[in-house]
Amino acid sequence: MADVIPPIIPTNPVTPELLAQIHAIVGDRGILTDADAMAPFTRDWSGLRQGNAAVVVRPGSTEEVSAIVKLCNQHDVAIVPQGGNTGLMGGATPWPAHTGVLLSLGRMNRVIDVDVEGFTMTVEAGCVLQTLQDVASSHDRLLPLSLGAQGSCMIGGNISTNAGGAQVLHYGTTRSFVLGLEVVLPSGEIWNKLRALKKDNTGYDMKQMFIGAEGTLGIITKAVIKVWPKPKDVATAWIAIKDPQAAVTMLSEAHSASDDTVTSCELINRTGIDGVFRHVHGTSDPLPHSSFWYLLMEWSSTRAKADGEGGMAEKMETFLADMLERGLALDAVIAQSEAQAKAMWKIREGHAEAGRADGPAISYDMSVATTKIPAFVDQGIAAAKAILPNIRPQPLGHIGDGNLHYGFRAPDGMTREAWNQYTPAITRAINDLIRDFGGSISAEHGIGQEKLDELAHYASPVEIATMQAVKRALDPKNLMNPGKIFRM
Ligand SMILES: Cc1cc2nc3c(=O)[nH]c(=O)nc-3n(C[C@H](O)[C@H](O)[C@H](O)COP(=O)(O)OP(=O)(O)OC[C@H]3O[C@@H](n4cnc5c(N)ncnc54)[C@H](O)[C@@H]3O)c2cc1C
Repeated sequence: MADVIPPIIPTNPVTPELLAQIHAIVGDRGILTDADAMAPFTRDWSGLRQGNAAVVVRPGSTEEVSAIVKLCNQHDVAIVPQGGNTGLMGGATPWPAHTGVLLSLGRMNRVIDVDVEGFTMTVEAGCVLQTLQDVASSHDRLLPLSLGAQGSCMIGGNISTNAGGAQVLHYGTTRSFVLGLEVVLPSGEIWNKLRALKKDNTGYDMKQMFIGAEGTLGIITKAVIKVWPKPKDVATAWIAIKDPQAAVTMLSEAHSASDDTVTSCELINRTGIDGVFRHVHGTSDPLPHSSFWYLLMEWSSTRAKADGEGGMAEKMETFLADMLERGLALDAVIAQSEAQAKAMWKIREGHAEAGRADGPAISYDMSVATTKIPAFVDQGIAAAKAILPNIRPQPLGHIGDGNLHYGFRAPDGMTREAWNQYTPAITRAINDLIRDFGGSISAEHGIGQEKLDELAHYASPVEIATMQAVKRALDPKNLMNPGKIFRM
């Protein structure tokens, strides 16, 4: 965890009188003040970051959210919005100095409408992502956001972080499927653009401002999201590859070989896989021989294959045979069933859990242009090894989006204290390299509190000042998730 200096948060604490007013709005079901009951909300997913709040408020409707926010605004009390609390940057975790409200959207979990013919769903912000995937699937539709935390993260959190995940290269980030939003502004007013419009050029597209704002500009209460036809023919392959350059070449050629149906392409390496096998029950190697680099690739068609037709798997087999012949792929297996495909994905999705259990490590959620990934991987490893020669590189990620979770594990046996002596220098070296490659220091996880100082270091003064101007216009008292993304 980066050594971030907490910002000064000049807001008021929740008084007993205010607590009584909050209680009058949300009732017994909507309020938690007991330390044990609040603990899952004030501690982050990693368990390493602990914050504070006077009260956890769980409203059941937009009107209740609005009333709470108005009340807090009148009393200068700060609010931290929270969805599933799976964010990795501490955006949903209050600072230790926070004496205000933590507002959890978890009770607002209704699916309001599914327009099957129009390919949209209207949902409350507290719906769990996996529930929405299942609802879409039951209507023969696909909600293409898919990530390791989908069993707990909520759509409001996904929108507030502009979440990415494993299918961005085909369907885009969360931003690409949000058609309409309802947001409670820091004043408590309700900004309502809850519409299923693909086209709307009536001035600034303000909804884009709330997407990815990490709860600093208001609280998302409802959304209209676009869904796609459900794939009927999916081929998933686990491929041992020569190196990251082979991954880029293979992906580039796979687009046309698959009739532009590549939906996922994940770069994985041996250090990470071995960690998953150690810590995630029910995982095993899909291939008999060990290699260092792998690709997990998925092609999906919405057309069901006809009887006797080979479909996507046959097309993929032809492609992989060519890749093996050219030495780009070293070995490969195509899943023969949905269960086998799920087992391959379990290895990919198990990395976060394994990483948490496997001792000191650091990971950079970075992006560069896809074709620059091989050079970046080599130069990044060289830069880190120049600081700590026996560091263990573990680059992993959504290579089709130019996005790696560029990770490093501490050398075997190194204590967390010793490791912490090296990480600031490694972070500076890697982030400088990202800047030199024209990349981003946060591709999909956001800034939260974790990357506050890094963003201040790398963003230009004009970029920061522009964001601060928007923040001041909507939240002049700095009460909505203060001290996240930047200091005011
Ligand atoms: C195992 C694992 C795998 C992951 N994989 C990915 C991945 O592949 N891609 C990816 O992008 N992320 C990934 N993440 C990170 C995380 O799951 C996403 O950022 C997710 O979108 C967060 O949703 P949440 O509901 O948990 O939000 P939270 O963690 O509760 O909140 C995240 C931010 O959004 C704000 N917020 C939450 N709800 C609202 C709301 N209704 N209105 C306004 N602000 C709100 C919070 O204040 C905070 O700043 C992963 C996390 C884990 C633990």
